[in-house]
Amino acid sequence: MSLSEEQAASLSAETVVVAAGRPPRDRDAPVNPPIVLSSTYFGTGPLGPGDRGYGRYSNPTWDPFEQALAQLEGATLPGLLYASGLAAVSSALSLVPAQGVLVMPSHSYAGSLVMATELAEKGALELRTVDIADTDAVLAQLAPADGRPASMLWLESPTNPMLGVADIRALTAAAHAAGALVVTDNTFSTPLVQQPLGLGSDVVLHSVTKYLAGHSDVVLGALVTSDAELHASLLHHRTIHGGIAGPFEAWLALRGLRTLALRIERSQASAAVLAERLSRHARVGSIRYPGLATDPGHERAKAQMKGFGSVLCIEMAPVGGLSGADAADRMIRALQLWLPATSLGGVESLIERRRRHTAEPASVPDNLVRLSVGIENVEDLWVDLQQALATLDG
Ligand SMILES: *Cc1c(COP(=O)(O)O)cnc(C)c1O
Repeated sequence: MSLSEEQAASLSAETVVVAAGRPPRDRDAPVNPPIVLSSTYFGTGPLGPGDRGYGRYSNPTWDPFEQALAQLEGATLPGLLYASGLAAVSSALSLVPAQGVLVMPSHSYAGSLVMATELAEKGALELRTVDIADTDAVLAQLAPADGRPASMLWLESPTNPMLGVADIRALTAAAHAAGALVVTDNTFSTPLVQQPLGLGSDVVLHSVTKYLAGHSDVVLGALVTSDAELHASLLHHRTIHGGIAGPFEAWLALRGLRTLALRIERSQASAAVLAERLSRHARVGSIRYPGLATDPGHERAKAQMKGFGSVLCIEMAPVGGLSGADAADRMIRALQLWLPATSLGGVESLIERRRRHTAEPASVPDNLVRLSVGIENVEDLWVDLQQALATLDG
């Protein structure tokens, strides 16, 4: 691979996304890693046993992405690519010992919550959900005076979709003091905006589907850790449970990663502009975006992030005979440029009212609309929002 750990550490992340994970500089070698389609490898016979064995254990197309992601997160071991973000969640949750206690944000990504809840219902673990922005409440759940200490603290910050910001450093220190592992879902921020390993987390999780791949054309997940024992357990889980990435998806993810810095720079700048304008719009009841000085998570986000991300949420005000949720639905139907679709982190701006999903926790307001700001021209995005909001005036 073209970038050594030392080189990666000395270069800025904007360069690492472009330079990491390239083939060796051999004469006539391709500058991009090839896609390797093979379910098995020559591993017996005259050359002796190989290192790869079989396609479920490893694939050369995964390696460059896994190395690049590790370098970006500041990890000393390669990342682990999975078939989806939730396959990575499943693998990370396998680190909770039988009947161990899992502390998780009550507004984690809905799929992560569903998985943890189902494990708790089967008796595999004890689940304690908590408002992750309330540090004292989390501390109380990690090491309760009258209960068992936690085995794992799950962090997601900012949370999807409530955009609650956790004090990652303080919570991680408290979790370690209680003997718990810390997993941080860093999907919303990417390593360019937040590096949870540096803040003390043991494992970082990504839905690669979102910003890292960035083009809404693949579903993938990843875990990153610098702990050799955890890495071995996770790799074993991936191999035995089989949630592996397809080579083409892995190749697309690396291709998408090349432009991550540019995409983040543009979408964050646009999100800040749109958040400020939407916060003053009469049809918008309230807004959540950690970049706004008035946001409850602002100071914390400033202290631990290199930006504020590109997702913002608005709660639509009721208007005329319409409830806030109905106003949201009507506004979304009137949009022409924004795509009414779930997901986030792609080049195209996406918008949805989250509670249209039945799995979304009922504590998410039904008039809450999540906007994933893409890389289009910000004035074009604003004009479209304005015209759609104006349809509520009539
Ligand atoms: C989308 C998402 C996931 C799940 O990832 P998939 O790739 O859809 O399986 C997990 N966490 C967060 C924060 C997400 O946004």
